Order: sequence, then C-alpha cells, then structure tokens
Amino acid sequence: MPELPEVETIKLQLNKFLSGHKIVSVDVRNRKIFLGDEKRIVGAKVIRTRRFGKVTVIDLNNNNSILTHVKLTGQFIYRGPNLKTDSLSKKVIGGLGGPHTLVVFTLDKGGVLYYNDVRRFGWIKIEKTDEVENESFIKKLGPDMLKVNFSDFSKILSKTSRNVKTLLMDQSKISGVGNIYINDALWLSRINPKRIAKSLNKTESKLLFDALHTVLTAGLKYGGASELAFVTPDGKEGEYQNHTLVYGHQGEICKNCKTTKIEKFFLGGRGTYWCSLCQK
Ligand SMILES: [Zn+2]
Repeated sequence: MPELPEVETIKLQLNKFLSGHKIVSVDVRNRKIFLGDEKRIVGAKVIRTRRFGKVTVIDLNNNNSILTHVKLTGQFIYRGPNLKTDSLSKKVIGGLGGPHTLVVFTLDKGGVLYYNDVRRFGWIKIEKTDEVENESFIKKLGPDMLKVNFSDFSKILSKTSRNVKTLLMDQSKISGVGNIYINDALWLSRINPKRIAKSLNKTESKLLFDALHTVLTAGLKYGGASELAFVTPDGKEGEYQNHTLVYGHQGEICKNCKTTKIEKFFLGGRGTYWCSLCQK
C-alpha cells in the first residue's frame, strides 16, 4: 500500500497539474468508491492539495474538497498541459478510460484526471473544506512522520510496551510510514524490529528518527515505490523499489556486516526483513 513518499508524490504532482484548473465535468463510473455529490465540485477551481497521513485532499475555491485514499491499487493519472511526456506505465491496467477507470474528471485547458482502481478498495469523497480535519479518519491520525519533532517522537515510543515495528505501523500513533520504509529504517538504525518500543534509549530513538527521515527522503527522491500498482500522476512509476536497503532482500548478504543473510519473518502479519547480527 502506498506510504508517505508515494502519497506525498501524488499530492505534489496533483498540485502541479491541477492548481488553477477548473473542473468542467465529473463522470462517476463506479458509485461504490465515490461518496458525495459530484455536482458540488463541477465549476470549481483547484486551489491546492494537502496530505493527511495516506489521505490526499484537493481543495477547491468553493469550500468543497476532494478527499481520497488510493489503498492498494488506486491510481490518479493526469493528461493535459504541463506534462513533459505522455508515456504511460504498464501498471495502468486497461489503460485510461478502460474497464478499471472508475472516475474521470474533465478539466478546462484540455486537462483530464483519471482514477483507475483494479481492486477497488480506494475511495474518493466530497466534503466541505472546513470539515476535512473533522473527518474521523483524519482526526484519529497520529502526528505525521515528516512533521513530528524528536521530542514528541521519543515520547510516543516511551509510552508503549508493543514492539517498535508494530508501533510505527500504527497510523494512530505516527502517520504516513508503512512496511517498506519502516523495515529499511530499522535496519539503517540497527534496531531489532521486535524490540519493545519503550526499551529504546535516547540514542537509539534518535538513530531511528533520523533513519526514518533518511529513507522517507530517499523515497520522495525516487517518486515512491511502485511495488504493486503505484504510479505517479504523470503516468510513470516510482523507483524506490530498486533502492530498498533490506525490504525484499531476504537471502541476500547484509550490506552492513557483509557476513549474515537477511532473514524474513512475519510480525503483526507483515513481512519483516532484518539482519540478526546487526540489529539489536
Ligand atoms: Zn548485518
């Protein structure tokens, strides 16, 4: 599932492509994933985009906003002005306007925004802009990993007896990060994923905090990870999957100690990758 770097990339590209565009019409081809009345957004102009955890918000100039979570396989693809090339990733199954295109937003100036979703777990919701932060799924989010300061981060760690990886996966404690980047950050900070969060001392907490920033920054630089269906709104794929540190590297020799093989096990139901020699 897309995490902070992927959703941040969606947010930034949608801001670049959509800001200043007016929505001319909305063709909802699948009612189940679209909540609210699309008539409320027709004729309105996009003024900015925001991100709350893994939710993207597109604010319009008539006090309405489009909220969306792409979940496993949702894809926003834009065609129109400001696009350097119109190349399209093979991960856009069925193409644009095909059987997996569930919503088409037609914009002025020849712009079109497609929402494709093969598995259909993603959703789009129309909400009043001043009600966005009262949405329960936004209200319950913990502080964003790119915005939380170290003092608050270490306080969150010190309050839990759960293992550190499960804690970081919990969006109500820290929002935005998920399995790929957490695995890489734990390896980079040499911390065992099974460590009880409150057992981390200040030095270890700071190493983990810095490692999370390092991997998220790398994720952003590479436009996210296109492990499953993730594509960026310009129709391309992210590249972080080619630069992971430990995620997906089971059976390979650890790049730090160069002696021990990376192992994979399941923790809280999620694939966990680690070096038993380096991570304490
Ligand atoms: Zn190692």
